[in-house]
Amino acid sequence: MLDAPLPQLGEVRTWSVPMRTRFRGLDVRDGVLVRGPAGWGEFSPFWDYDVAESRRWWAAAVEAACAGWPAPVRDAVPVNVTVPAVDPDRAHALVAASGCRTAKVKVAEPGQTPGDDLARVEAVRDALGPVGAIRVDANAAWDVATAVTRIRQLDRVGLEYVEQPCATLPELAALRRRVDVRVAVDEGVRRSADPLRVDLGEAGDVVVLKVQPLGGVRAALRVAEAHGLPCVVSSALESSVGIAAGVALAAALPELPFACGLGTVALLAGDVTSTPLLPVDGALPVTRVAPDRLDAVAADPVTEARWSARLSAVSE
Ligand SMILES: [Mg+2]
Repeated sequence: MLDAPLPQLGEVRTWSVPMRTRFRGLDVRDGVLVRGPAGWGEFSPFWDYDVAESRRWWAAAVEAACAGWPAPVRDAVPVNVTVPAVDPDRAHALVAASGCRTAKVKVAEPGQTPGDDLARVEAVRDALGPVGAIRVDANAAWDVATAVTRIRQLDRVGLEYVEQPCATLPELAALRRRVDVRVAVDEGVRRSADPLRVDLGEAGDVVVLKVQPLGGVRAALRVAEAHGLPCVVSSALESSVGIAAGVALAAALPELPFACGLGTVALLAGDVTSTPLLPVDGALPVTRVAPDRLDAVAADPVTEARWSARLSAVSE
């Protein structure tokens, strides 16, 4: 157990679990859970995030542990199955086993070809059937011309939207004039200096909200209101404690037109709880998670020391 950086926090624990499939360049996911008067909160910024950016993640953990979340307006949240950059057979199996009617498919993985992406989305379409929805996430990999070509090709299976196909907002705006598929802005909001005030202009049709990168459920609700666009809530690959915060955000949004990217616990080979937040019939319940497997998933001492240093830095 680590020392609590705030007097209200009774317990601070680190966790670490392998990924089932390499995702976002990660083979292991780790983080910190803190317990406060309102319950447990998660602090798990990726290791490539600096102290300044990680402070928002810390604010989300403190909110969950000390304040709790706004009242929900729905008691369940539809979610998508997330398909990493795997081969078509594995993609098909993941979607078929998920029970979800929407799939989010990673594309533009370094080292893979356009043919790999097309084969993956075709396998996903086959598994979902004609009425399922498919969205792709390119994580800002393409320039505008490449994005136009690739999106038109992938849209053969019918795309609900494409998430962050290009890096910058002007590129996204230029792309939107050339393709019919909706564009969702993810990194363009959450990694901007000020997600609340960043001017999206003509860059997007949908805003992706993530609780930790935006500084908590309330902060994310303000971002949603500021941009006035349809929103979808996605995870930052959290344990079930962090996913519960994403569900709380999705449950509190006035409108929720899309399935959310919160079905990601399945990408982890373990969890902090024996009752993980995995979708049943394509939806997650609105609930709080009490971690009962903290000893089983405890991080090794070296990792714990790294988290201790990080926690000191962000909570100063
Ligand atoms: Mg994304």
